[in-house]
Amino acid sequence: MWETLEEMQPNVLKMLKNSIQKGRLAHAYLFEGMRGTGKKEISLLLSKSLFCTNPIEGYIPCETCHNCKRINSGNHPDIHVVEPDGASIKKHQIQSLQEEFSKTGVESKRKVYTIVHADRMTVNAANSLLKFLEEPTAETTAILLTEQAQQILPTILSRCQIVTFKHLSPDHLIQKLIEKGVSEKKAPIIAQLTNNLDEGLLLSNDEWFAQAQSIVVKLYEVLRKNPLEALVALQENWFLHFKEKEQIDQGLDLVLLILKDLLYIQLGKQNQAVYLDESSRLEQFALQTSGQRLAHQMTAVLDAKRKLHANMNPQLLMEQLVLELQEGSTFV
Ligand SMILES: [Zn+2]
Repeated sequence: MWETLEEMQPNVLKMLKNSIQKGRLAHAYLFEGMRGTGKKEISLLLSKSLFCTNPIEGYIPCETCHNCKRINSGNHPDIHVVEPDGASIKKHQIQSLQEEFSKTGVESKRKVYTIVHADRMTVNAANSLLKFLEEPTAETTAILLTEQAQQILPTILSRCQIVTFKHLSPDHLIQKLIEKGVSEKKAPIIAQLTNNLDEGLLLSNDEWFAQAQSIVVKLYEVLRKNPLEALVALQENWFLHFKEKEQIDQGLDLVLLILKDLLYIQLGKQNQAVYLDESSRLEQFALQTSGQRLAHQMTAVLDAKRKLHANMNPQLLMEQLVLELQEGSTFV
């Protein structure tokens, strides 16, 4: 458990290890980072490190003692987790936490509380928590989790040690996706489009996304033939499928990934390609274009993404892009 999470967030675990070993834990931590970066798992791990009766090397929870087991099953009396009740964390939730903590040490003096989505506290809840944070007791550790640190009151932030969780690397995400049952052919492309495991899992089961990939490959194929046909393909396929701005953006990302793959194939780095379902077709395409041309096309796609975010009309933007991608084509 420690080792797996250490692979995911090496800096965070190094910091926690040092703090535990030197007995210098902060009274309050704010774990901030995107969904799926291990914040909750690491807060649980830290709780176990603090309560474990037989920690390995003094900091790695043994996972087998009574305390570790109770924490894993969510029923250790000195550990509390507060999560939003509906859309927000309400004042009464923080108050009952405080009441719980005023009954000093059910079993020991040490207590840990974790607030999940701390940015969703109501103003009243946040003010209650603030009072709580202002009067820390030696043996209490608060762990606030958030995906949006900028939404947390500065007065609360200033009382926490802020711990930033980094995005998952694509390789790490690919491995996680495969562990969760996503096929080895699909995982690499998904890991290019998100660095969140849950989002990746959604994409892997998303019929829209599966179709999006084949529409993008088709568009590239037609592009190689002639401009008129490509414009027709835009009308007949692309615009029906990529409607919202985020969808168009994802479509453009997919175009970009094809071009990158073609470049990798040309450079003999097939192992870095991500469009594995289409690899044999892409190998054909790669033979018929040049690196220079691919670079030019990638620039054009990046430019289209920029224009999309500047709210250019998507229809116009795609038509321009198709013409741009055609430019200099020698395969008519
Ligand atoms: Zn233990």
